[in-house]
This record gives sequence, structure tokens and C-alpha cells, in this order.
Amino acid sequence: MTSNVRAVDLSRDTEPFKVSRPKRADVEAAFRTIIQWAGDDPNRPGLIETPARVARAFQEFFSGYSQDPAVILQRTFEETEGYDELIVLRGIGFESHCEHHLAPIIGKAWVAYVPSGRVVGISKLARVVDAYSKRLQIQEKMTAQIANTIDEVLNPKGVGVVLKATHHCMTTRGVYKPDTDLVTSRMLGCFRDNALTRQEFLSMID
Ligand SMILES: [Zn+2]
Repeated sequence: MTSNVRAVDLSRDTEPFKVSRPKRADVEAAFRTIIQWAGDDPNRPGLIETPARVARAFQEFFSGYSQDPAVILQRTFEETEGYDELIVLRGIGFESHCEHHLAPIIGKAWVAYVPSGRVVGISKLARVVDAYSKRLQIQEKMTAQIANTIDEVLNPKGVGVVLKATHHCMTTRGVYKPDTDLVTSRMLGCFRDNALTRQEFLSMID
């Protein structure tokens, strides 16, 4: 969380760039401490390289902090022959981590919009999902962030985002409910106002 002041946009308040990061050696030392606290010997051969590996893995898990989703959506195409129907990218796989337990959140996203003049390369929609998922998250916030960013940057007629995910903090620990998933959605513009558009989008989700 940073204290940077943005006029309207609270949904994107995880903008990462102002956090000062500890040194890599300190991070590895912290993982050694955790291994010891778990009850094992961080100096035995099988574990000696683990802190460095985990640090690299965390870099990957949280690479979204060095990406600005608004920049990803910057480049758009206007030659669309007036295309103004639904655009849906379905079943975008994502891996995230819950901000309460650092446990994996594994799921899929359905991202839709109805363009207003310009469209964005479809891979960019997947990259926006990645940029927000590779952070410490709660699913509700992530859903809103994806929808709000597309809405603000592309200014389309509407945006719909649905996320379905399994939360390992409740499937592998805590209440142990392995077969549950959480579904969240955010509908903006014509997806919120027009039941037919919303229904058409929801019918594409399995
Ligand atoms: Zn959790």
C-alpha cells in the first residue's frame, strides 16, 4: 500500500513503485529463519539452496508489482469497421496469492468489453489479469481492479469481468473445503445496465 494520491482511482492503489525493497540476502535469511521455525535444518544439503530458490519463486509470484496494467492497455487499434459487439476472452488461467495467508489462489478469468471505437490486442487482456494476479490479492479486489482499469483506459461502452478460483487457504488448511470455488464479478456500463448484454456474457462462462 502506498500513500500516493490519485484523484479517483482507489482500485489501483497497489501501484507498487514506491515500496523500498530489502536486499536479496536479507530475503534469503528470512526464508532460512522460516525453515528453522518450521522445525528443519536450513543447512542440510537438501535445503541449503532452498532460500535462494524460494526468493526466485517469489519474484515470479509477485512480478505484477513491476507492471502497470494501464500501460499494457495503452496501445489500441481503431480500424475495426465499426465493430461494436461483445468481445470476450474466456477462461484465462491465473495464479495469485491471498494477502492473508500467502496461499495460492488458482483460477480462471473471463474478461469482456463492448468497444467504443477502439479495441485492444486480445493478449493484452490476459496480461492485465497477470499484472493484477501476480500480487498479494483478495479475489474481490482483483476482479474490480481488472474491470476498472479496462474501463478507465479503453473507455468502452461496458466491461464485464468474472473470476472463479480455488483458495488454498481454505482448501488445504483452515476449514478444509477442497471442492469449493469462489466466483466474483464486476459489471460496468452496458453490462450493468443492459440485462441482455450481461446475459450474453454470462452464457459464455462455464
Ligand atoms: Zn487466505
